[in-house]
Amino acid sequence: MKPLTDTLCLQCGLCCNGVLFGDVRPEAGDRSPLFAGRSRVNQPCPAFTAATCACAIYAERPARCRKFECKQLLAVGAGEISAEAALKKIRATKKLAAKVERLLGELGFNDTTLPLHRRFKRCQRAAETGGLAAEQFDTLADLQLAVHELTLLLAKDFYS
Ligand code: SF4
Ligand code: SF4
Repeated sequence: MKPLTDTLCLQCGLCCNGVLFGDVRPEAGDRSPLFAGRSRVNQPCPAFTAATCACAIYAERPARCRKFECKQLLAVGAGEISAEAALKKIRATKKLAAKVERLLGELGFNDTTLPLHRRFKRCQRAAETGGLAAEQFDTLADLQLAVHELTLLLAKDFYS
């Protein structure tokens, strides 16, 4: 039988692509090549391939990556929910994250090297300091609602 990480994580990537976390930090003694002298690496992680949801340094990934198990992974592992139910949740969450990305893009916040929450913060700051045009306010409202929904979903179903 395939390991759960193959079944779920290779369809997900939310803990690597800047949706769940803003960066990856080493623990004491962590020799992962991801850091190579750096004290932290921003997400989306440079070792992550979005098309395949795969980690390029999986065998040598940081300790934090090894240890993190989201609520979906834990719940399927404990037999509380089926893998199909978890995949359904993952797909819905990725769809909502994609909506947030699209709305950020429409408002001109296209820097995909930043984690999603940082892009949203920049957008909020721009809105507060007069950096958005009045005709963008409807899109901003849609974005704020989508971010709120995503934040609740991540808290309820992913952060462990
Ligand atoms: S969020 Fe959970 S299911 Fe998704 S890649 Fe991370 S550990 Fe795997
Ligand atoms: S090192 Fe691998 S497992 Fe860790 S965040 Fe990057 S892509 Fe994900």
